[in-house]
Amino acid sequence: MESLTRLSHLKSEAAYARACQLMPGGVNSPARAFHAVGGKPLFIQQAAGPFLFDIDGHRYLDYIGSWGPMILGHAHPQVIEAIVHAAERGTSYGAPTEAESELSELVIAAVPSIDKVRLVSSGTEATMSAIRLARGATGRDKIIKFAGNYHGHVDSLLVAAGSSAANLGVPDSPGVTAGTSRDTLVLEYNDIDALSEMFADCGHEIAAIILEPIVGNMGCVPPRPGFLETARELCNRYSTVLIFDEVMTGFRVAYGGAQSLYGVTPDLTTLGKIVGGGMPLGAYGGRIDLMDQILPSGKVFQAGTLSGNPLATAAGSATLKLLRDAPPYAQLERLGAKLGAGLSHAAAAAGVPHRMQRVGSMMTLFFADADIFGWREAQHCDRVKFARYFWGLIDEGVYMPCSQFEALFFSQTHSEEHIDHTIDAAHKVLAQL
Ligand SMILES: *Cc1c(COP(=O)(O)O)cnc(C)c1O
Repeated sequence: MESLTRLSHLKSEAAYARACQLMPGGVNSPARAFHAVGGKPLFIQQAAGPFLFDIDGHRYLDYIGSWGPMILGHAHPQVIEAIVHAAERGTSYGAPTEAESELSELVIAAVPSIDKVRLVSSGTEATMSAIRLARGATGRDKIIKFAGNYHGHVDSLLVAAGSSAANLGVPDSPGVTAGTSRDTLVLEYNDIDALSEMFADCGHEIAAIILEPIVGNMGCVPPRPGFLETARELCNRYSTVLIFDEVMTGFRVAYGGAQSLYGVTPDLTTLGKIVGGGMPLGAYGGRIDLMDQILPSGKVFQAGTLSGNPLATAAGSATLKLLRDAPPYAQLERLGAKLGAGLSHAAAAAGVPHRMQRVGSMMTLFFADADIFGWREAQHCDRVKFARYFWGLIDEGVYMPCSQFEALFFSQTHSEEHIDHTIDAAHKVLAQL
């Protein structure tokens, strides 16, 4: 078999062989295993600013940013200092701290729809808890999710399989019971008619709609005009809880998240990734009457030994304060527009059918000849071509997400020159496809 890369990755190969003896598939999260592009994962030694360094001594411009969190760039001095300072005072207490209130105040000030917030340890925990709260508050069982939207590995949300029409959920994973997934209704993203029909059919049984207000987890798919508004309107009419999963988009597309860009207000919001500044932290929050139903002020159970952990809240607060006081969003938009146009142009020059879909500093170059509105269209992408593009860019020192169905991210440390280098590399690689 032809080698996927020209560079030597001998140390990474050895590290991977060792890891495969120890962990399922050699990794602690499946996307890291590079299965979508073939080949073996690169093991990382360290990161700084816009760069990743692998253990074979290669440097890459990083376009995954730990899959979203690193909007300030890697190892930002003020974030590192905040973590070190917190660690010196102990790593966990199991008792309240003022640091938790500080981060909560920052989140509530940033996202107007959040009156109260609960800190957890991951995005998965945030969505799982928000769903439980919606069910507890409404006394209803059914939830609506959209195919190609990822909300973490919550049993009831691991359902999106091949659904081109409204149907009862079929689980994506062994171990998720039919009983669990039966109450998950799966619809196509951006399909306003299907959503309206579902509510006409059984709206009074639906506890919640959960959605990514801009999808990142099937590649970057923005909402069509009217989609979020329709979800809001139906939830009002049927007293259903509208949950925006902003684990990826929160503090990424704007300081106030996607809801501030589109002007649609959810009842509950889930956060993760950037809110923890690269540490394991998530959050969910929203309307006070809902949030006050969480134990111990209410009856809906949710807890966590490491929730509101001092190192994580220190990293989160340091990150949010930097984003608030010196917002990078105008620069991210300007360089994002340049990168998006540059990658599109490189594909066009090489005669490669493509669509560029972008919001600010998250985007995807789809190897497809039609717009992607949902999971149905996403199926038509040329994943073989994508894999060759990915490995070609690795050889040029550019580390893109290792799947056609992931959005790329960049940070405030990516300069004009870095973006230019990336576009030049894409021209070279795409011309050879
Ligand atoms: C990453 C992600 C999650 C899951 O967060 P984890 O911290 O990996 O558990 C949930 N929802 C969305 C939209 C995400 O992008």
